[in-house]
Amino acid sequence: MTTEQRMPIESGVPDHFQYMHPVLRRNYGQWAWHDRPRPGVLHHVSRTGEQVWTVRAGTQRQMDVHTIRKLCDIADRYAEGHVRFTIRSNIEFMVADEKKVKSLVEKLQQEGFPVGGTGNSVSMISHTQGWLHCDIPASDASGAVKSLMDELHQEFIHEEMPNRVRITTSCCQINCGGQGDIAINIQHTKPPKINHDLVANVCERPSVVARCPVAAIRPAMVNGRPSLEVDEKKCICCGACFPPCPPMQINDPEHSKFAVWVGGKNSNARTKPMFHKLVAAGIPNNPPRWPEVAAIVKKILRVYKEDAHDWERMGEWVERIGWPRFFELTELPFTKYHLDNWRGARASLNASTHIRF
Ligand code: SF4
Ligand code: SF4
Repeated sequence: MTTEQRMPIESGVPDHFQYMHPVLRRNYGQWAWHDRPRPGVLHHVSRTGEQVWTVRAGTQRQMDVHTIRKLCDIADRYAEGHVRFTIRSNIEFMVADEKKVKSLVEKLQQEGFPVGGTGNSVSMISHTQGWLHCDIPASDASGAVKSLMDELHQEFIHEEMPNRVRITTSCCQINCGGQGDIAINIQHTKPPKINHDLVANVCERPSVVARCPVAAIRPAMVNGRPSLEVDEKKCICCGACFPPCPPMQINDPEHSKFAVWVGGKNSNARTKPMFHKLVAAGIPNNPPRWPEVAAIVKKILRVYKEDAHDWERMGEWVERIGWPRFFELTELPFTKYHLDNWRGARASLNASTHIRF
């Protein structure tokens, strides 16, 4: 038996201070004020008098190693060797010398990386993982973002919106979807299709039964094998049963649709944080460019840009003009799917915290 002490396994991100630009490290918590000399460039001045310029650029999100090497080369040659990614996966280069900003911006633009995403622009759309990393997505959220940002390029490089616009996408309904001025989320519209031959081998049936928020799943014997069945009248097509039981396939090329939600925000500025509301449903999940989603998002953005007061976030604008006027201006059809008349939660919502995975 060894007496050597076993070291703990460290997990999580490493200490970020070691990777910071030295000016940021020295002035951490000391910033006195900042301004934006142009879209995509931030200028911070510290109480100590030191200054730093940050150049923000958009990327194609899912990056190959050649692109990352190219961005690192730009950081070494045109900046000061330090980069960081924002929570929306913009890349930022920091320089302490103002003279480097112009050539850095030009080099990024020349290599196809748009400089922008600051202030009242449409910043990069945050997205969930999509087909590349996750095992349950109904769409490629990152692909939808890339094709949409191609169309919103002008709004990224200019700051011409009434206020900042934060757009999010999500490739399933139950997990990582976020709040946004505009949120683009998958909605399943049919109950799962069960492959009864596989359920007994793959699924832990009690966990799947416990997972359903409306108690629509129950154990069943099918063709002499233990399986599951779904009460389709109760099923709300949420897809929560699919991750723990892949034979309950919920994704469908035709019936998994996109929906657009409007007016969410996390910020406390001027008004409280707001939940977004459904404005369009049943939009085709149509890769590789999702043109139907892009058309609706662009229409909402155009009307918001024309009609909102300065500094009104999208939700604040809709609250001022009212939802009926929002539907008139955007010419989106108001349908029965916009009415939240589901009362099932009172009787059947599985709200207990036991058996959760
Ligand atoms: S939103 Fe859902 S499908 Fe998309 S990455 Fe998150 S868990 Fe996976
Ligand atoms: S978990 Fe969701 S999709 Fe699955 S049966 Fe229940 S309500 Fe329907």
